[in-house]
Amino acid sequence: MRADLDRSISILQGEHSAPVVGEGYPQDSADAGSSLSEADRNEAILHSARSQRDGVLAALTRIAENTYGRCVDCGGDIPEGRLDARPDAARCVGCQGKHARRR
Ligand SMILES: [Zn+2]
Repeated sequence: MRADLDRSISILQGEHSAPVVGEGYPQDSADAGSSLSEADRNEAILHSARSQRDGVLAALTRIAENTYGRCVDCGGDIPEGRLDARPDAARCVGCQGKHARRR
């Protein structure tokens, strides 16, 4: 999972830094607008891939520390069904709900 995310991130970063418009290419405001929104979209995908990777790395750290499967907020057990659906889940359903509302 982490390797997949690393690969996605490096691909996205490669695309992101590549020049979009060649020199001398006619550039009207519509083109500028569309390339801007594409960069924004790319940035959003990159951001979510990075935060997903952070979640996976945090899960790996918890495995190393033997706290994997325990909620980082209340210390309670995270149900196995939840870990199957979200292997990088750091919180039980209740705490995740509270956490999501805080943001
Ligand atoms: Zn909890």
